[in-house]
Amino acid sequence: MKKLFFLGLAADIKHPWRHFFTHGTRKNAVELAGYLGKRYGGEAMLCKNGRSALALALKTYFTPGDAVIVNGFTCYAVYEAVKAAGLKPVFADISKENLNYTVDTLEKAVSDKVTGIIVQNSLGNPVDMQKIEKFAGKHGLIIIEDLAHCAGMSYPDGREVGTVGAAAALSFGKEKSIDAVSGGAVVFRHPKWHTIQVPSKLPKFTDCLRERCYPVFGLWCRRLARVKLGGALMRTLMALRLVERSADNRLDLERRLPYFEAKLALAQLKARGKSSAGPLREFCLVDNRANVLQELRTAGYFFDGFWYECPISPKRYYKKVRFDEAACPVATEVSKQIVNLPTYYSKKDLAAARAIIERHLSAKGGKK
Ligand SMILES: *Cc1c(COP(=O)(O)O)cnc(C)c1O
Repeated sequence: MKKLFFLGLAADIKHPWRHFFTHGTRKNAVELAGYLGKRYGGEAMLCKNGRSALALALKTYFTPGDAVIVNGFTCYAVYEAVKAAGLKPVFADISKENLNYTVDTLEKAVSDKVTGIIVQNSLGNPVDMQKIEKFAGKHGLIIIEDLAHCAGMSYPDGREVGTVGAAAALSFGKEKSIDAVSGGAVVFRHPKWHTIQVPSKLPKFTDCLRERCYPVFGLWCRRLARVKLGGALMRTLMALRLVERSADNRLDLERRLPYFEAKLALAQLKARGKSSAGPLREFCLVDNRANVLQELRTAGYFFDGFWYECPISPKRYYKKVRFDEAACPVATEVSKQIVNLPTYYSKKDLAAARAIIERHLSAKGGKK
């Protein structure tokens, strides 16, 4: 429990206005792509967001109709990327220890139709990659690494995440391990099988403006949470479409990353050297989550949500996925018990939250 909520902070809690005033140019994008290519050993393309990056990776190395194994505890963005590539997701149940699938659950999920596997390293808890590689080798599966939660981390054998699979997809979205509010990139590490177009369409002006303003809006919400008005402000901003929910960030294979986000993402990536990164969100399991969340709110914390409230989150999209809960009982149970807090509070600010959560820890497990 000591390590609970030892976070990598979202870069902009200290400088909320930085996004608004950052000026980027094409040179920043070229530099970021070059850096990614070198760090992960391949050829990088910058994208509108993480799900578009993942979809491009999948489109490149799979053929429509193929099935791919996906961690049974993830966000809708991943499902969306799999569907956009014309593939069928097969969900593998997770372990309570690290929220990742295990070789046992993978063996249950695999079939003749499955040709690939997405490695997620949930909330920054790395999988045992050597075991995954062995499993993939045995069944002839292509590995795609999703770095949304784990950029800068390493597997237990010391290799950096993103340097193992055929491709690595990064997200620069809100509260991800590299947080530029939005954006993504894919690094192709193997020769490409299918040709794809480089995203080059101009980003939308309104999207960019929203993304530039978000760190400041987030700060206002956190401040107002102390007098219980943070949630109301965020709901108002969303209703006015001044803030976009992360899950609603549209998948778009044609639009490129805004240049100012390339500049912000590169600075963060450079700062997150190999192995310097801790888990993105420490988690624990509680018996009565509704009470815990209510207590956290009463104590003045602001959060829109945590990861994840259902096996494929958020709830608004869960029905679309038609997730087979019986096939993933652990993921289903964990999604009812998990608590984890966002990256925009400092460790010190989270001391009171930790005390609240500790009082509610599940008797059945979680991290202590
Ligand atoms: C958020 C997320 C993505 C992609 O995120 P975007 O919002 O599209 O940038 C991909 N994989 C996982 C596991 C994520 O949590």
